[in-house]
Amino acid sequence: MNVYDSERMSDVLRPLGYRAVGTPDDADMIILNTCHIRDRAAEKVFSELGRLRKVKEARAERGEGTVLAVAGCVAQAEGREILSRAPYVDIVLGPQTYHRLPEMVARAARAAGAVIETDFPVEQKFDFLPADRAAPAGGAAFLTIQEGCDKFCSFCVVPYTRGAESSRPAQAVIAEARQLAAAGVREITLLGQNVNAYHGDGPDGRTWGLARLARVLADDVGIARIRYTTSHPRDMEDDLIAAHRDLPQLMPFLHLPVQSGSDRVLAAMNRGHTADEYRALVGRLRDARPDLALSSDFIVGHPSETDADFADTMRLIDDIGFAQAYSFKYSSRPGTPAAGAGGHVPEDVKDARLQELQAVLRVQQDTFNDATIGLTAPVLFTGRGRKPGQLSGKSPWLQAVNVDGPDSLIGRIANVDIRHRYTNSLGGVLTEETDRA
Ligand code: SAH
Ligand code: SF4
Repeated sequence: MNVYDSERMSDVLRPLGYRAVGTPDDADMIILNTCHIRDRAAEKVFSELGRLRKVKEARAERGEGTVLAVAGCVAQAEGREILSRAPYVDIVLGPQTYHRLPEMVARAARAAGAVIETDFPVEQKFDFLPADRAAPAGGAAFLTIQEGCDKFCSFCVVPYTRGAESSRPAQAVIAEARQLAAAGVREITLLGQNVNAYHGDGPDGRTWGLARLARVLADDVGIARIRYTTSHPRDMEDDLIAAHRDLPQLMPFLHLPVQSGSDRVLAAMNRGHTADEYRALVGRLRDARPDLALSSDFIVGHPSETDADFADTMRLIDDIGFAQAYSFKYSSRPGTPAAGAGGHVPEDVKDARLQELQAVLRVQQDTFNDATIGLTAPVLFTGRGRKPGQLSGKSPWLQAVNVDGPDSLIGRIANVDIRHRYTNSLGGVLTEETDRA
């Protein structure tokens, strides 16, 4: 979502004459768009700011001014602290106020002190973003349809930094998708903190869910590939499961975080479902779409997690078989219920659990990728590969695929015979050089 937000910040600033440059040294304005989800992400902001201070000073010596802004969730949560620790920052803005950037830039130019905008505004920023969106190169784009969260998992800062759950009207999403399609985009990833909780106002006066929206994007707008992330097991409704059966444009890859396989920890996390309910849900999804690849997030060492709880997580991983996953050590976040709870797990225990879990997930990922060797799969080529003459793209199961091929295929979909599996990618050969969809 930060990638999407950064693109939209560029859209907002373009009418003021700003354009992207290759390095901070050449930038009249630098925006650090930040993430607060774990401690380490937040810490990075301060070390990066130290680096940018030097850039700003070097530019000042050359007589060049630099507006330095911190955006995103660290700005939202720690705005005042940023200004006291890094007084050379000119603008601090939360994720819901970036449509006001032009006004903030003007105020920063006038004012002696820094500009800070971290209130949740009453207006929806989406209503104020420019209608013309620069389409990213490579045929794939993100599109935010839902933001914020009301679920208040014990460990998570999102409800505090992104605010209450809200969905964009379906028509606004469709209009943005049409624009992307007209600019050559073939694949759209619909984004939201709880994207499958989407409930936008429909043009027919009814509330639309994600399934209905995806159908219109596939059938009416003509988007060849649709993905959505991140979804919550609790919001996986029947019509969305059915859409996985009925809509070939809905890609057979689903990121469906479970966090833990222990019912006790799931309850402590306030996730609202049990491990067996997750197993049953995955069963129904696989019935609907047998080639569906599953991905998840895991947290090890949530307060009160015992060895037995961790063993339950390992058992769940074994039962499901994930195509890929992200896993993290629990990180205490200020203001969250878990931060104040007892039973914090020692760091070395967390380390050991993470290693064990990641080793199993690694094997599962390799096994999944190995199983695609020998298949012919449609690949969307999103750019050049690392080696000369090589293209890099994405399979339906979100695997990175490299082949030798012409630049003219970038932004297009073509069939590939998958031949090799490397650590984090696949290699293959083109079976055709024309766009198939
Ligand atoms: N809405 C999504 C997750 C959004 S946050 C969901 O409910 O599944 C992305 C991921 O970051 C989470 O799935 C979780 O695994 C991880 N995460 C969030 N807070 C964390 C914390 N305090 N410590 C460690 N990992 C955390
Ligand atoms: Fe955070 Fe996701 Fe839980 Fe919302 S549902 S509080 S975003 S982990």
